[in-house]
Amino acid sequence: MKVAAYHSSNPSDPDVYHDHDNCPSGQQIPWYNKVDGTGGHPRCKHCRDMD
Ligand SMILES: [Zn+2]
Repeated sequence: MKVAAYHSSNPSDPDVYHDHDNCPSGQQIPWYNKVDGTGGHPRCKHCRDMD
């Protein structure tokens, strides 16, 4: 399902943002690292493929 943009605050994670809650890459972000917004990053490839 499409959701508001979010990204990871962990510097070791890829510099991308997600906007699907079922993204396999976005689902690996633990709640404490999830930040609202794009963070100025490009969109995640998995999320692009799900459109
Ligand atoms: Zn994604």
